[in-house]
This record gives sequence, structure tokens and C-alpha cells, in this order.
Amino acid sequence: MSLADLARLIGRTGRIAEPAPPRPAASPAGVGPDEGVDGSSGEGSPAVAAVRRELHGSAQVRHVDAGSCNGCEIELAAAFGPVYDAERYGARLVASPRHADVVLVTGVVTRNMAEPLRLTVAATPQPRVVMAVGDCARDCGMFRGAYGVVGAVGDLVPVDLSVAGCPPAPADIVVALRRVTGR
Ligand code: SF4
Repeated sequence: MSLADLARLIGRTGRIAEPAPPRPAASPAGVGPDEGVDGSSGEGSPAVAAVRRELHGSAQVRHVDAGSCNGCEIELAAAFGPVYDAERYGARLVASPRHADVVLVTGVVTRNMAEPLRLTVAATPQPRVVMAVGDCARDCGMFRGAYGVVGAVGDLVPVDLSVAGCPPAPADIVVALRRVTGR
């Protein structure tokens, strides 16, 4: 297919993402992790507010799988896919914490991932937001007490936002990302 044919095809197809839902409602300032609405939380975290102020609607996201069953990754892929399309709200996945504003963590923190998680967060420039996505990341979920588990994300690094669910719905992940981008 030539470039011109491709451009015509794109023009004919138009936008295929779902219509954008309204912006997430603001929670009262000072709301901390795990106190929010719609399965995600932390609207009033100072780190979230700082990132939102500095980045003017754009946030680069480094994903860390600290010990997930891969269920959260499937929903995360859906959140960035064409239907939920988190990128239209300014959130974008990047390959390096050096380029990131948000560290998005899924899964319980396993022994082998404890140090890489600490190092990844440390390598992310300030101001940064750490987001715990899924019940395992929030409180170890169904893997609490398992022999290879060090703890939840908040046991190792400070968490600014969290998204509940096992796995969390892509729409809830998008709501949390929109709280960071403010779009
Ligand atoms: S929260 Fe559920 S889907 Fe996500 S890693 Fe844990 S067990 Fe898997």
C-alpha cells in the first residue's frame, strides 16, 4: 500500500477509540493513598499535584512488573490500546525510568524484584509519582504471606496513587493516569 493510499484509508476510517468519558472528579486536597474513589486513589497527593503542575498535561510512564501473575499487564495493555487509549489523555509508556514521570508498579514485590524496584524509583527524576496498580501491588492481594513475597509496593517505596482490583479495570487505570496528567 502506498503512503497516499494509507493516508486515504486513515481518513476514511476516522477515530475508532471510545468517546472520552468526563474528566475524573477531583477529590479533596490531602487525600492520601487508598482513600479515593472508583477504585483509584490519591488525587490530593503532593507528588501528583507537583507532577501535574510541572508537566502541563503530559506524563511519561515506566511500568515495573514486580511479581505479577500477568493479569494486571493484560489490563494495562488494554488501557493503552485503541479502545481505552490512555495516550489521548497525555500518558505514554517509556522504556527508561530516566525518561519517566510516573513509575507504575504491578504485582506483589518478590524477593528478586525488591532491589530493582527501589533502583527504578530512585532513577526516576523528581517530581515523580509512584502508582500501585492492582490488589497485589496495593496490599499483596491473594499472594500475601507467600514465601517469595517481600511485601506490597508501599512496603518498599512511597506510593502516591493506587488502583484497586484483581485485576483492575482498564477504565480505572485510565482514571488514575488522568489524575496525573490532569486531562
Ligand atoms: S492483582 Fe490479580 S491480576 Fe493483578 S497481579 Fe495480582 S493476582 Fe494477578
